[in-house]
Amino acid sequence: MIKDYKGTVICASKYFSPQELRKIYSKGYHDFGENRVQMMTEKIEALSDLDVKWHFIGHLQSNKVKDIINQIDYLHTLDRLSVAKEIQKHATKKIKCFIQLNLTEEPQKSGIYVDKLDQFLLEIKKYDKIELVGFMTMGKDQDEVATEEAFKKMNALSKAYNLPLLSMGMTEDYHLAIKHHATHLRIGRKFYELLN
Ligand SMILES: *Cc1c(COP(=O)(O)O)cnc(C)c1O
Repeated sequence: MIKDYKGTVICASKYFSPQELRKIYSKGYHDFGENRVQMMTEKIEALSDLDVKWHFIGHLQSNKVKDIINQIDYLHTLDRLSVAKEIQKHATKKIKCFIQLNLTEEPQKSGIYVDKLDQFLLEIKKYDKIELVGFMTMGKDQDEVATEEAFKKMNALSKAYNLPLLSMGMTEDYHLAIKHHATHLRIGRKFYELLN
């Protein structure tokens, strides 16, 4: 579906029923990303016979952390201390986390602003249940220039902070994400091509 890409394609599973996800799985896509806690727990249960890697990619309220944190393989949206504290309290093993960055500086979006990143990293150091693996970001709607700028910046930050994984790129902008070395694409609507 995405030719010559060597990284991980995560199917953003919010669009798909468990039955559709089985079909997607059978075509070789074994990484699924949900963005709602309730849907996630339902799908994990419905697909428990499959060897799926589960990524949580949506906004996570701190009071919901305990409901999913021990069922997922990666959290893509760590952006607040309150979430970090809940992970520390409830995780039974180290949790692989991406820090979500707001690189397009849109106030309605989640994610940490770059000028707050050092402080955040300092503060979460004491939480030994959090294993930082990389950064996650979203492009800017209808704005390829700002989106590419954000992806480029994230690649530079990944090198500067030695956090190698880059979760970026969706159906509309994954080509830009690949250009700037995304290791994890989060692809939703494009998967309809596989189902048809
Ligand atoms: C839905 C979603 C995606 C994928 O969206 P498409 O544009 O359909 O590819 C990626 N990331 C997050 C956080 C999402 O919620």
